[in-house]
Amino acid sequence: MVMERQDLDELAALIGDVERVSVSAADREAHSRDESFHEACLPDVVIWPESAEEIGRVLRWANQRRVHVTPWSGGSSLEGNPIPTRGGVLLALYRLNRVLELREADLQVRVQPGIVYDDLNKRLARHGLFFPPAPASSDVATIGGMVANNSSGMHAVKYGVTRDYVLALKVVLPTGEIIHTGSRALKSASGYDLTRLLVGSEGTLGVITEVTLRLRIVPEKVAAVAVFASPAEAAQAIYDINRYAPTPAGIEWMDQHIVALVNRWTGMSLPEVPMLVMEFHGTLEGARAEAEFVGEICHDCECVSFEIGHSRAERERLWAGRREAHNAVKQLHNDCDLVIGDIVVPISCYPEAVERIYAAGQAHDIAVYTFGHAGDGNLHFEVLMPKDDPNAHQRGEALNTEVVNYAISVGGTATGEHGVGIGKRRFMAAEHGASLELMKRIKRLLDPNGILNPGKIFEEFD
Ligand SMILES: Cc1cc2nc3c(=O)[nH]c(=O)nc-3n(C[C@H](O)[C@H](O)[C@H](O)COP(=O)(O)OP(=O)(O)OC[C@H]3O[C@@H](n4cnc5c(N)ncnc54)[C@H](O)[C@@H]3O)c2cc1C
Repeated sequence: MVMERQDLDELAALIGDVERVSVSAADREAHSRDESFHEACLPDVVIWPESAEEIGRVLRWANQRRVHVTPWSGGSSLEGNPIPTRGGVLLALYRLNRVLELREADLQVRVQPGIVYDDLNKRLARHGLFFPPAPASSDVATIGGMVANNSSGMHAVKYGVTRDYVLALKVVLPTGEIIHTGSRALKSASGYDLTRLLVGSEGTLGVITEVTLRLRIVPEKVAAVAVFASPAEAAQAIYDINRYAPTPAGIEWMDQHIVALVNRWTGMSLPEVPMLVMEFHGTLEGARAEAEFVGEICHDCECVSFEIGHSRAERERLWAGRREAHNAVKQLHNDCDLVIGDIVVPISCYPEAVERIYAAGQAHDIAVYTFGHAGDGNLHFEVLMPKDDPNAHQRGEALNTEVVNYAISVGGTATGEHGVGIGKRRFMAAEHGASLELMKRIKRLLDPNGILNPGKIFEEFD
């Protein structure tokens, strides 16, 4: 539906503050794309709500008029998740960014959804607490966006993903009704688990306005880097560490191509071979002992070197290359669009998955880097699609399809953390079979007019 002047006047009246309702080209443009190559789409109007009640009024109005509404937080998604593909209202939620209640004795915090991950953890650090998932986009990803995408990151291997920390939610449904799910209890057998349904629903089932998170105590940390002569040996080490070692807090994989690119981008002089960048948490002695044990495993897998760092400065140095990996691709290949792969395979398939990606790169004649949170079987790959090559998108997508289908065929998933958005919709039937139909029925039940974040997860509701 095209929005008329009268619609905009009604919306402004619902919000009661014209400063928080904008139709300016700059505001609409700023909320038209995420960090992916998916096509930008302009919303008709951008609204910055300040309460669940305001969001409820906007959704009730939009539901009656069949106007589309898309929630937006940090805009850092990689699959087109917050792009307002059908225009309409863009709900910009990042000003809802307060810590509402810290229950230190219970290791819990209740926050508004717009607070940025790093900002929350800085506040929590004063109390010796933290929220572990640690996405690589931690300086922009908000808690609302993380809950909606069920994000995770380098610590997922030890601590789990966002879903494992969400105890309760306050949510505005597409009809405007406000509900609370969950409780502050650490476990519950009480009825259907609506909290877990809403986590990972990518803004298609409701707008999250409050999140209660459980927290962990900040541990001592030790870092390590293992360098290998070949990808096969490094991939074998990932498997052996998972199989035989106590769980590290992070195992990040970098192939030789990404290491070389990071050197070009940063001026570092890392050895241009595959490496694993790791972190261990616990008491200092415990973390050090774990690191040394993993060192023995890496030596058994023929690593060329294994270096441990204890101080903050040493840890920062060992992690510096990994932190710059995506930036290096983005800056040095700014003439390319990127397919950013996010498969997860059962850990025993990890070495084969790495080989498959390289083979697919060769078969489709397209360059590909592999790096990411390897410890839990998550394998990221970034495929370069030169913008001036008319067939590059076709070849990049063909590689992606082949690799995702491989992951699904071995019992893995199309996406470990970035969500389905637009880019992974075509794999949903293969991955979920008949239960995809049940997901659609749930969507229809909660959003009968299909107004909320259209075109995401399911092709049908576009
Ligand atoms: C360099 C880089 C590195 C990244 N690394 C990681 C990583 O390590 N791990 C990872 O998981 N992801 C990663 N991402 C992807 C992205 O940062 C995460 O998915 C992040 O959690 C998205 O948060 P956001 O605040 O930017 O949300 P947005 O992108 O604004 O929105 C995400 C989705 O949530 C919906 N949404 C937003 N707020 C709400 C709300 N309050 N209620 C309901 N729905 C809502 C949106 O409609 C959209 O579907 C990375 C991205 C970049 C650019």
